[in-house]
Amino acid sequence: KTSDTLIHRAEFALKHAHAGQENTVVFYDESIYQAENLQNQIESTMKSALDQGEFKLYLQPKKDLRNGKIHSGEALVRWIREDGTMIYPDQFIPIFEKNGFCAELDLYMVEQVCRQLRRWMDEGYEPITISVNQSKLLFYRSDYVQKLCQITDKYHIPRQYIVLEILEGLAAESIEELNKNISVLHEKGFKISLDDFGSGYSSLNLLARLDIDEVKLDRGFLAGDQYMKNDKLKVLMKNIIRLAEELHIDTVVEGVESRDNEEFISCIGTVWGQGYYYSRPISAGEFQKEYLEKGGCVSG
Ligand code: C2E
Ligand code: MG
Ligand code: MG
Repeated sequence: KTSDTLIHRAEFALKHAHAGQENTVVFYDESIYQAENLQNQIESTMKSALDQGEFKLYLQPKKDLRNGKIHSGEALVRWIREDGTMIYPDQFIPIFEKNGFCAELDLYMVEQVCRQLRRWMDEGYEPITISVNQSKLLFYRSDYVQKLCQITDKYHIPRQYIVLEILEGLAAESIEELNKNISVLHEKGFKISLDDFGSGYSSLNLLARLDIDEVKLDRGFLAGDQYMKNDKLKVLMKNIIRLAEELHIDTVVEGVESRDNEEFISCIGTVWGQGYYYSRPISAGEFQKEYLEKGGCVSG
C-alpha cells in the first residue's frame, strides 16, 4: 500500500471518529469505505443516468390463481449502466428516498409503464394491469395526482390499468390524510395496493381502515418455507386472506418460489401469486414475448 492510500484511509477513519459520540479508537473498515464510495457514485451519477435512459422498466408477472392466467405485472426498476452492469433497487432506492430523487424516478417509471402499455395497445394486445411502486415522498407531493393524470392522459391510458403500490409506513402519520389522498386517486380511476404487508409490525386495523383495493402479503411469509414448520403462520395467512376477502380487498402473495408454495396459497384462497416460480422480473421485451404473445397463459 502506498503512503497516499494509508493517509487516505486514516482520514476516512478519522471522519467516522468525529461523527461518533465517544472518545475512542477507530479502525478503517474496507466494507464501510466501499459502501460509501458506491453511495457517492450513485448520487453523483443519478441525474445523468435518468437523462440517458439508464433506468429500465422490468416487469414481473402476477398469476391469477383462479384461471392460471397472467394479466398483470409489477414494474420494478433496474439501473443498467453504460458498461452493462446492473444495479438493483435495494442498492439505490433507499439512497434516493433520503435525497429526494425517488419522487422523480417514480414518476419516470409511471411514464415508462404508460409508454409501454400504449405501444402494446397500438400493436393490438389486450391491455394488462401494471403496478408501480410509489415512494412516500411522491405520494404526499401537492402536484402528485395532477402529474399522474398528465402522464396517463399523454399516452391515453385508461387509469384502471395503473395500480399504485404503497407501503404501510405512509399511514404512520395519519390514516385520515392517507385515505383522503386515496379517495382522490380513486376518483381519477387509479387502484391502490398495500405492499409488503406483514413485513414489520403490521396492524390488521389498516386493512379495515384504509381504502385499498389490494393487499400484498410480504414474501417473508413463504421465505424458507416458514409456514411448513409453523402451523400458526398458516392460520395467520389463511385468516388475513379471509379477512381481506370479506373486506373486498384482493390478495397477492409475494415470493412464490415452488409448486408447494403455490399449492398452499391457492388452498388458503389467495387470488394472485407473484414470485420466481413464475418468473423473475424481466425486460418489457421479454415480458411481451413470454406472456402477451402467448395469450397470457403460464404453466407455472
Ligand atoms: P417490492 O415492491 O416488494 O418488489 C418485490 C421484490 O421481490 C422485487 O425485488 C422482486 O424481484 C423480489 N421478488 C419477486 N419474487 C421473488 C421471489 O420469489 N423470491 C425472492 N426472494 N424475491 C422475489 P427488487 O426488484 O430487487 O425490488 C426491491 C424493492 O425495491 C421493491 O420491493 C420496491 O420496494 C423497491 N422498488 C423497485 N422498483 C421501484 C420503483 O420504481 N420505485 C420505488 N419507489 N421503489 C421500487
Ligand atoms: Mg411492490
Ligand atoms: Mg413487496
